[in-house]
Amino acid sequence: MSLHDLTVAQLAIMLAKKEVSAVETATHFLARATSHESLGAYLAADEEATLAQARAADESIARGTAGVLAGVPMAHKDIFVTRDFPSTAGSKMLEGYRSPFDATVVAKLTTAGVVTLGKLNCDEFAMGSSNENSAFKPVRNPWDISRIPGGSSGGSAVAVAARLAPAATGTDTGGSIRQPASFCGVTGIKPTYGRASRYGMIAFASSLDQAGPMARTARDCALLLGAMCGPDPDRDSTSLDLPAEDFTLSLQASIEGLRIGVPAEFFGQGLGADVRQAIDNALQEYQRLGAKLVPISLPRTELSIPVYYIIAPAEASSNLSRFDGVKFGHRAGQYGDLMDMYKKTRAEGFGDEVKRRIMIGTYVLSHGYYDAYYLQAQKIRRMIADDFQQAFGQCDVIAGPVAPTVAWKIGEKSDDPVANYLADIFTLPASLAGLPGMSVPAGFGEGGMPVGLQLIGNYFGEARLLNAAHRFQQATDFHLRRPPEIRA
Ligand code: GLN
Repeated sequence: MSLHDLTVAQLAIMLAKKEVSAVETATHFLARATSHESLGAYLAADEEATLAQARAADESIARGTAGVLAGVPMAHKDIFVTRDFPSTAGSKMLEGYRSPFDATVVAKLTTAGVVTLGKLNCDEFAMGSSNENSAFKPVRNPWDISRIPGGSSGGSAVAVAARLAPAATGTDTGGSIRQPASFCGVTGIKPTYGRASRYGMIAFASSLDQAGPMARTARDCALLLGAMCGPDPDRDSTSLDLPAEDFTLSLQASIEGLRIGVPAEFFGQGLGADVRQAIDNALQEYQRLGAKLVPISLPRTELSIPVYYIIAPAEASSNLSRFDGVKFGHRAGQYGDLMDMYKKTRAEGFGDEVKRRIMIGTYVLSHGYYDAYYLQAQKIRRMIADDFQQAFGQCDVIAGPVAPTVAWKIGEKSDDPVANYLADIFTLPASLAGLPGMSVPAGFGEGGMPVGLQLIGNYFGEARLLNAAHRFQQATDFHLRRPPEIRA
């Protein structure tokens, strides 16, 4: 088996036993990143920086002081700031920007021994569902290069699916880990809001943003999530005072009697017949594994679209005000007074979707409209969270599709922001409630494109989600299928 077909768990063992070195492993993946450049997954690589980290990992293995993930290579979504690589958030505004520090999640993974391969493409400031909002280049889905990979963590999903990295970090504000994982046939988990520190994650919507791993298996996600999570009280006041768990411990637990809630609203009109078929089959597989299906209702599912597309832009309009040409990032070359400098800098630096959201966000927060939009949205957000608590009275996990369709064609929805927003319908509810959610490869639909099963857990229920996903992966092989090799 080639190095790039190994999982994180397998690689970690081989590295610890010195059957392969961190330098060899990193070199192999860097070469693949180069030979698959046309997929557009990477925004930045730096061989010297990567190999320096790999040499340090090999030394720690030789000394016997290595962390559990020593020498395992990973690439990071370009939303995480990194000292050794540029950090752009997929935006011209931050082109060439270098952070003086590493994001907490990156620092924690590095402490565990992870070697950084580079930075991965994403929608500008993580706003999007197709990666077409990247200011630099589109990302192609390796299962069909005429299709989008999903977004906003599209580069992460493609890097993992095309074996350009054994795993990657992603961020999920309204579905950006789960939806690209689903569209590219990889496994990804967004933990409970507050599990992972947001320090050094370039902010989009702070009450929703959350980091998580994307990999090929639930076991790998469990390994990585354990290394990424944990309190960060001095740097992120919303990080939970909850020690990181070893999420691998309960992977094997039986799921006999597990109550799986199936929300009627996730199977209504608008769900593609191909996706429905794959999800129905997955639910039947769970029944064979001993789980019980329980019909439930999440009555405000549809409302999560307007609620999210008020709250997220409101927070974004505030967060993005820091990009004013003064402290960092782009500054217009020619301008008159200070106000003119702000205007020109922001007009040049931000792309259309980012500008659209800043305008919507500013509008819904403005005097006279705040009560009608922002406050109403907050009230409904609470009701959506309450609906989940009601549902979790009857079930242990909730299952349904990640998205209504498989990945669409590049360009198909690029002129229609609302069409993009509507496709987020099944991922937004868990985001608004702050609940953990994951995507597990569950079959193939139209055009042979991957379909992801979404599993949603109650607060802090990551271990149970990963357990349910792992048992499913032991009974199925969808997560092992690989897209065709596309080179050059
Ligand atoms: N697609 C959603 C949006 O455009 C979610 C993005 C995300 O989770 N970062 O806002």
